[in-house]
Amino acid sequence: MEQDLHVRDRVGVQDFVLLENHTSETEFIENLQKRSKEELIYTYIGSVLVSVNPYKNLPIYGSDYVEKYRNVNFYELPPHVFALTDTALRSLRGELVNQCILISGESGAGKTEASKKVLQFIAATTRKKASLETVKDKLLQSNPVLEAFGNAKTNRNDNSSRFGKYMDVEFDFTGDPTGGHIINYLLEKSRVVFQAKGERNFHIFYQLLAGADDALLEKLSLKRDPNQYVYLKQGESSKVSGVDDAESFKIVRDALRVMEIGDEEQEALFLLLSVIIHLGNIEFASGEGDRARINNPVLVSTIAKEVKGEVDVEIVFLFDKFFKLLQCPEDKLVKALLNKTIEARDDVVVSPMGRDEAVKARDALSKSVYERMFTWLVQRLNRSLQSAVEVKKKIVLGILDIYGFEIFQSNSFEQLCINYCNEKLQQLFIELTLKSEQDEYRREGIAWEPVTYFDNKIICDLIEEKHKGIISIMDEECLVPGEANDKTFLNKMDKLLSDHPHYLSHAKGDNKTKKTIEREEFRLLHYAGEVTYNVKGFLEKNNDLLYRDLKDAMISSSNPITKDVFTSSELNSKKRPDTAASQFKTSLARLVEILISKEPSYIRCIKPNDVKKPGLFETGIVTHQVKYLGLMENLRVRRAGFAYRRPYEGFLNRYKSLCPETWPHPKGDPKSAVQTLVNHLKYGENDYCMGLTKIFIRLPKTLFETEDAFQK
Ligand code: ATP
Ligand code: MG
Repeated sequence: MEQDLHVRDRVGVQDFVLLENHTSETEFIENLQKRSKEELIYTYIGSVLVSVNPYKNLPIYGSDYVEKYRNVNFYELPPHVFALTDTALRSLRGELVNQCILISGESGAGKTEASKKVLQFIAATTRKKASLETVKDKLLQSNPVLEAFGNAKTNRNDNSSRFGKYMDVEFDFTGDPTGGHIINYLLEKSRVVFQAKGERNFHIFYQLLAGADDALLEKLSLKRDPNQYVYLKQGESSKVSGVDDAESFKIVRDALRVMEIGDEEQEALFLLLSVIIHLGNIEFASGEGDRARINNPVLVSTIAKEVKGEVDVEIVFLFDKFFKLLQCPEDKLVKALLNKTIEARDDVVVSPMGRDEAVKARDALSKSVYERMFTWLVQRLNRSLQSAVEVKKKIVLGILDIYGFEIFQSNSFEQLCINYCNEKLQQLFIELTLKSEQDEYRREGIAWEPVTYFDNKIICDLIEEKHKGIISIMDEECLVPGEANDKTFLNKMDKLLSDHPHYLSHAKGDNKTKKTIEREEFRLLHYAGEVTYNVKGFLEKNNDLLYRDLKDAMISSSNPITKDVFTSSELNSKKRPDTAASQFKTSLARLVEILISKEPSYIRCIKPNDVKKPGLFETGIVTHQVKYLGLMENLRVRRAGFAYRRPYEGFLNRYKSLCPETWPHPKGDPKSAVQTLVNHLKYGENDYCMGLTKIFIRLPKTLFETEDAFQK
């Protein structure tokens, strides 16, 4: 804050509320750009922290910085993620109020890195006590485990989180950390069976192949080269530059141990990974009467070409080793890979699958095994993070690291879920920001001036409303056996939603142009912009079906993890499991409840370019993100009343030398001394307001004039 005109010109303002014209997007971006150029990656909007990815390591996270930022008032030092964390921690400890830190931004913007800095600061600033070291170690070590299984190289980020994560760090009333709890959201499991060019499957697969010793690999019947495996080679990019998968494997194994997942269970995990890898290499062909058959000779001969003379071994592997790995009866799985059993009323029909259907069923199995394994892992981490001692009153600091708004060339079911999540969080953000502004005005005894803002409830409703919303319509279509498909779903939406101001029906567009284009798309007007969704695959992804034969086969596996995650109660249950979208909707509603009960802080992450390059600031790319993150709206709300506020003591300490009556020793209480000071400085009646403990200044100009006088 305290910087003279010259410096301000060069490095911009450290709080956007101090911009001359706070409604100008250009000024906003310019300020970010100036600061990025100076490697000042953090800027505030009031108490919100905006962070620009520097794409290089800056020396601002060492123990010197931890010391500098601990127990210092938010505005005293340049903006920093440590300042935000410190404020949250002090509120948690001082007032015993639950906190949450919401981190958002698009892929590669730096959310996960920010969440790690938050944890680092917590670990570094809590008491150094032997009994606390294990807890801290576990909190930190849960990260490498989750990243190995939940992150992957994508074209946007070499270490992209493919799941949403909410983590509570728990404290006792003295402020010591006692444990934690993690909730995971919507893992991108399609990655297990398919990767786009330039991308990889989840890190752990490559780490296993690179880092396992020969004995383990042999046990898993795996070769070191990922390019032998369909599930691992589709992206044609099995290496990530600067990443040593073998070394990472060691780190992950150590972290697993810290999280109390011992060698035996680790082996069960690796066995399942190998099962998935091998499943991907099973090939199907069309056999008699279009029935699928396992086309092993092709598989065998391609491998045999490379491993001459080992044909027999490979055949043995396919029909024997594989089932040993899975610890499941061979005939059961082979049957389940080729046939499906359908129960209709009192009838049970077993019908053989065609080739394509068999491929789909196999992929569904691989995805399901991986997803359940991931959930199992999170549960085990939670068990290990559970407080060892019974804590009477827990206070928590939650950290939310979740995917930002996504608009791709082609947008599907996953993008709808992610963007829906962002609508919900935006709604919460605006509500809470307004509320905290209002609360502060009330606390300080200042009249509230209402702020108009865009309420995106209408879009949330469009997606989630019972009976009428998109999710309901989709779920209903999923219930119509045989008849419904993605197109009928689209037609139904066009019929029911065409009058909705945020739904753009393509059928409607066609009427206008009198063209009959066959487009299987619909468009939503999100708060952040328009997104066109292609309905292809929506119903299938929402149904998320795993045939009961495959479930049955998995239930008979004696792998300790599959035993945990596939249970016969699932087969016997008559109730249809909730669809994927409905499950997500429920988990989001729960998340909102969790967040709303806490005092929030926000970190809004921005990436300055798409090529991971330090020093490159691309205005277009940044402007998009400023829009999607709703930062201008945020600034408007924050600036609606007063741009700047400061406790009387702080204000006085800085500026008391500007007035002979307050220098060097102000008389009376800080509030009346500040009154004397601003009278002397000739503040206009409308320029400021005196609250209970703080002075509120309406425009940045007023403050800057004072600051410039001070600098002189
Ligand atoms: P995704 O949504 O894909 O998970 P993300 O927002 O979590 O993306 P990160 O993985 O945190 O993105 O950041 C991407 C990369 O950017 C990091 O691997 C790191 O190289 C770099 N990076 C991010 N933040 C910082 C930082 N504060 N300092 C240095 N480098 C950073
Ligand atoms: Mg991430």
